[in-house]
Amino acid sequence: MSVIIKTQKQIDIIREGGKILAKVLAKTAKKAQPGISTLELDKYAHDLIKAEGGIPAFLHYKPEGVSVAYPASLCVSANNTIVHGIPSKNQILKEGDIVSIDLGVKYKGLFTDHAVTVAVGKISKKDKQLIEDTRKAMEVGIAAARPGNTVGDIGHAIESFVNRRYGIVRELSGHGVGVKIHEDPYIPNYGKAGKGQKLIPGMIIAIEPMLNLGSDHIISMDDQYTIKTADGSRSAHFEHTVLITDGDPEILTAI
Ligand code: MG
Repeated sequence: MSVIIKTQKQIDIIREGGKILAKVLAKTAKKAQPGISTLELDKYAHDLIKAEGGIPAFLHYKPEGVSVAYPASLCVSANNTIVHGIPSKNQILKEGDIVSIDLGVKYKGLFTDHAVTVAVGKISKKDKQLIEDTRKAMEVGIAAARPGNTVGDIGHAIESFVNRRYGIVRELSGHGVGVKIHEDPYIPNYGKAGKGQKLIPGMIIAIEPMLNLGSDHIISMDDQYTIKTADGSRSAHFEHTVLITDGDPEILTAI
């Protein structure tokens, strides 16, 4: 495992790229209304990134062990889809859906990663609570991202906060980010305090809990990307790119 400690120059660029990403994702999230196709959302985000001088990082990205490159800029994952949903002109968002939109940006050669889950029109109380708690799970994870702490402290903080109220997806995790879209270390959303890679100032990591209303079991679709809950329950996902500093963590994908 090799963790990349970023230089001040890299941090400055990633901070700039993160602001672009935050702006683009916030605008795209507002477009997630009943009647829009997920492909239209993808095109909207793609064009905004380009207009800001960035490059969509997921487009044509080929993760290890997958035979086809990812065909879109955005991952759009509705309802029982947890992550990596491929945008489609045939998938039309409807009132009551909850949808995770996940976007990566390459800016001046460096990467940031950010996701939010939003309500499409009016949603159920239960879904609203799921979204709120998943956002909070991310926030407690970020709060644990302090120098001297470890990756295990982040996972432990998230798992303690969730306290078995939801299924925590275990096969997918947060990750280092910056020089590549996915770097070491993995940041699981569960774990033991004090275990794993130590957090060092200059590390940049993506913290991204995925919580299911039902069990934590997942299934992978034949398209090699889409991941759904095994029991069909709904799922939410939030993600920020975070800089480890000498003190408080700095969220780099905030507006
Ligand atoms: Mg990520």
